[in-house]
Order: sequence, then structure tokens, then C-alpha cells
Amino acid sequence: MSLRIGVILPEVLGTYGDSGNAEILAFRAQARGVDAEIVHVGIDDAIPDSLDIYTLGGGEDIAQSIAARKLTTDHGLARAVAAGRPVLAICAALQVLGTYYTDAAGTKTAGAGLLDVVTLPQGLRAIGELRSEPGPGLVGRGVTETLYGFENHGGGTALGPDATPFGFVSFGTGNGVPGVAPVQTNDSRELDPDTVLEGTPQGYVTEVDGRRIDGVVQGSIFATYMHGPVLARNPQLADMLISMATGVDVAELPAVEVPGVADLRAEREEFIRRM
Ligand code: GLN
Repeated sequence: MSLRIGVILPEVLGTYGDSGNAEILAFRAQARGVDAEIVHVGIDDAIPDSLDIYTLGGGEDIAQSIAARKLTTDHGLARAVAAGRPVLAICAALQVLGTYYTDAAGTKTAGAGLLDVVTLPQGLRAIGELRSEPGPGLVGRGVTETLYGFENHGGGTALGPDATPFGFVSFGTGNGVPGVAPVQTNDSRELDPDTVLEGTPQGYVTEVDGRRIDGVVQGSIFATYMHGPVLARNPQLADMLISMATGVDVAELPAVEVPGVADLRAEREEFIRRM
């Protein structure tokens, strides 16, 4: 078989090397003898509904609004999700796949409605290291190791009843609290003081069992605030997506050791411990 790995709207959703997530998936598939092809889907292309894995990256507010317009009018990704095809969405993509998001300027934009989340300004920008323990939607699919990434976002995201946490934050901000300054951020800039902050809508949560949240898992969508690219720092996550796409149990995938990854993870852990 040949895996077709989509990079969706890289012109507007691709900050901090997020398009590298597709490269990592292709590399780890090929290392197991599975052919893999990266398919770039641009803003003027119809989004195919038959790709094996979809990746969407982060973006700044203006770029993100262009992505939102595309993803609310082209339903290719929605059809792929309805068919259970795995999707990895980072930061701005998480926000855009939600019900709606309000950016730092106070502009409210409808999302694709594929994730039961809403995003509002936090009041402060969360910038820095982010560490979490995998949530139930990941653990159930074999992701057990601590997750490491880098975050840079002004939006805070609350989960509705259909959404489950991607991870439980042990360092950094993650989804944060809409309308409230982020906790434990190691570097943050104040936003425009004229920004109108709203509260979290009724029934939407920012914590589960008293634990702070990063990201969301809903159906076959895995969304996080972690850049990095996240799959470079967290190979278990890459293998989970490959397992979903190939139908090969994650435990059956031969090990792939990439030199430097273990050192990188240890170095990030050490960095966080020193903070
Ligand atoms: N523009 C969004 C925010 O600031 C997302 C940023 C990003 O993708 N890094 O919240």
C-alpha cells in the first residue's frame, strides 16, 4: 500500500515548521517499508476526502481567517472525518476546526464545526515550552509517553461535551482559560488593552478532574497547541496516526529509532525542570 499524507493549506497553516509533521509521517512509514507520498493541498485546490492522513498546522490571525473561510466552504475534510480518516491539527487549525473562535482583535469567526470547542482571547499570549500527559483518546490508542511541544498563541480554548482532552498539562498553558491570563507561562506579551474579552460559554470546560488541558480529541481528529513539529518530538504520536491509516496495530509496528530524538526529549525535560 502507499500512504497519501495531506498537508492542508500550507500557505496559511504552516508556522513553526508544522508542515514537517507530514515529513515525519512519511519517514516513519517508509522506514517500515510502507510507501508514502506527501500531498500538498493549496488554498485554491479542492480538499480531497480520500487521503490516508491529514495534517494542518498553525497560523497567525490573518492567515488563519483565510483558512477558516476555506474550511467552512470546502467540505472535503469533513467527509474524510466522517469516514474516520485521521487528522492532526495544530494550534490555529485546532481553533479553525472548532465551532467558532474570536481572535485578539475581537473578531468572531465561524469554524468548520468538526470539533466541539470554542476559542476566545486569553488576555495574554502563551509562549514557551508545553508538556502534557496523554489524555484518554491517546492512551486508548497506545500513546503513553509524556508529550513535549512549543506553544505560541493568544487564543484560549474550552471543550464542549463531545470533546475530550488531548493531554493534561504539567507545564505551560495549553488550552488555557478563555478570557483569563494563562497560568505558568514562561514568556508572555500583553495583548491590545482594547480587546473585548468574553467568558467561557455555559457547559464548556477548561479543566477535567481538576487537571488543565491541552488540545482536543474528537472522533479521528487529534488537535493540540504543540508545535515542534509535534511529531518530531513525540514519535509515538506519529506511529498512532500511521497505525490508524494502515490498520496495523501500533504494537505490531517495527521500532524505528531516530538518532537524537531521545536526547531532544531529555533536553526539553531538563529545560523545563530548570524553569
Ligand atoms: N492565531 C492563533 C492564536 O494566536 C494561533 C497561533 C498559532 O497557530 N501559533 O491564538
